Amino acid sequence: MTPAPILPGIHHVTAITADAQKNIDFYCGVLGLRLVKLTVNFDDPGSYHLYYGDELGRPGTIMTFFAWPGAPRSRVGPPQVTAIAFAVPANSLDYWSSRLKSHEVTSADRLGERAIRFSDPDGIALEVVATAEPGGEARTRGPVPAEHAIRGFHSVILSEEGYESTAKALTELMGFTAAGSEGNRFRYRAGAGNGFASVVDLLCVPDARHGQMGAGVVHHVAFRTSDDPQQAAWRERIVRAGLNVSPVMDRNYFHSIYYREPGGVLFEIATDNPGFAVDEPADRLGRTLKLPAQYEGFRSEIERVLPKVRLPE
Ligand code: ZN
Repeated sequence: MTPAPILPGIHHVTAITADAQKNIDFYCGVLGLRLVKLTVNFDDPGSYHLYYGDELGRPGTIMTFFAWPGAPRSRVGPPQVTAIAFAVPANSLDYWSSRLKSHEVTSADRLGERAIRFSDPDGIALEVVATAEPGGEARTRGPVPAEHAIRGFHSVILSEEGYESTAKALTELMGFTAAGSEGNRFRYRAGAGNGFASVVDLLCVPDARHGQMGAGVVHHVAFRTSDDPQQAAWRERIVRAGLNVSPVMDRNYFHSIYYREPGGVLFEIATDNPGFAVDEPADRLGRTLKLPAQYEGFRSEIERVLPKVRLPE
């Protein structure tokens, strides 16, 4: 296979919450991320799609949630993204341990890195990893002091029944390189990344019970591509590898293609542009409900069915 085009790392991670308000309070109020877009699920406009990130919601910092009130309880298990790790500066772990002390923090050190683990209100496993060069840009606003602010993703952790076929897709198809292992953890790093939001860890858990989609589970992980032509090249490459890949979908803030990696986790490749300032000014992101053009005519019906939420200051 020809060398992979450039893939700089993680673009966003999307998970499912049963409670939009608790989700907003936790990701903004506790983790200090900015709500950068309040919109609806484009495939299900009666429910919220919440986007969090750094000040502008730059690729590599974007955590998103489909809010499905009353969603059936899910099961965490392969093949899924079973933990999400955020990067913080190397000296910030004590700050985060103390900030999160009511969230049952445990140590999650691995591969020479110090990390802590805790859960979000839906039970999704999150980690904060002390990183010598965390990359990204610290938020100067919000409840967390800039010196300790989350800079973006460090990695996603995928649980798989076996890891070889996924490892092969990451390395041969997507241009990742093997970057160490420890026990049943196998690490891969985006080939052309600058280290920021570039790590995928595969956990090989052959005996674990299979997961089930629902609240408290990660839906998919998206990787970055710079623009539409690069994305088209990726699409062709994935087709040639024998995987089923979706047509390009317009998500307003980026364009997306989706495919299932051989282990079964849903992957997406999303463009860096146009970004979240495409439909509201950068200093007003996330303050009002934004709808894509196809739903604007149904605004009053949509607003009637969506639960009211209290937005962060
Ligand atoms: Zn996505």
